Amino acid sequence: MKLMSLIIPCYNEEQSVELLYNEINRVSMELSAYEIEMLFVDDGSKDGTLKIVKSLAAEDRRVKYISFSRNFGKEAAMYAGFCNARGDLVAVMDADMQDPPSLLPKMVKKIESGQWDSVATRRVTRIGEPPVRSFFARMFYKIINKITDIEIVDGARDFRLMKREMVDAIVKMGEYNRFSKGIYGWVGFRTCWLPYKNIERAAGETKWNFWKLMLYSIDGIVSFSQVPLSIASVGGILLTLLSLVMVVFLALRRMIFGDPVAGWASLACIITFIGGVQLFCMGIIGQYLAKTYLEVKKRPHYIIADTNAEKAERVQ
Ligand code: UDP
Ligand code: MG
Repeated sequence: MKLMSLIIPCYNEEQSVELLYNEINRVSMELSAYEIEMLFVDDGSKDGTLKIVKSLAAEDRRVKYISFSRNFGKEAAMYAGFCNARGDLVAVMDADMQDPPSLLPKMVKKIESGQWDSVATRRVTRIGEPPVRSFFARMFYKIINKITDIEIVDGARDFRLMKREMVDAIVKMGEYNRFSKGIYGWVGFRTCWLPYKNIERAAGETKWNFWKLMLYSIDGIVSFSQVPLSIASVGGILLTLLSLVMVVFLALRRMIFGDPVAGWASLACIITFIGGVQLFCMGIIGQYLAKTYLEVKKRPHYIIADTNAEKAERVQ
């Protein structure tokens, strides 16, 4: 029998894990051709999440858990899941039921048709989200798709079902600054997109605030595009040319009209402007440098404090 692994990153989800477990149980009846493995990755939860998962594991052999020594972030949790999932098919889904397990049978059918290696989900509405966030999200997708070679689909969720080959490729992408939406696009494979309506969280609240999303989007851009660096250099060249033109203009004006140069106010504006541009460009370089710094340190992605998964590497 084939094995399907479900990776479920959980951070303070004590109210949702059991709901999700029951729902997966219900759906697994429809997936009788597969043995199911549920891999709960407890990302350093401070509530009773781990306790609940452990009690589920005590009753059900199919429940595996990996518990981190602290909160390492959803990306690290997903990576731990990929590294330890043994399934022929592997799915990632949120613990809050926003990624409905009831879609799984449909996703499996798509893969079994032989036409696809991966089935991903995309929400078609952003109802229930603050308008400002939706606006910035849309902008982000527009920008990142312009400046990267890979396609990053607007509204794509992390909820996806993949074949083993794709999971192996993702595990090989061992970068520290992980941006899964980009990684999925980068490894390629034939991906089928299933649109679905946004579903509100079953319980608890979102772990993302505006600032975190902003930093995450910068991560995404820096990880998959070098265009901001080019913008900095092209901007520098243009400003240099502009200043040369200005020098010529002022020199000619002085020679022809004998105008003395006046106006410290305009000068102050120019200096501030150039200073701003320089700092902005240094900031861009700094972003890349900071990411490089973190990569070369080769710190582990996560540290496991407790697990019942076989052979899980404690530090990865
Ligand atoms: N999550 C995690 N570590 C974190 C933050 C979130 O493992 O540091 C998990 C969380 O438990 C949930 C999933 O990632 O299962 C998505 O988080 P959330 O629902 O807060 O994000 P949203 O759906 O609002 O984008
Ligand atoms: Mg959610």
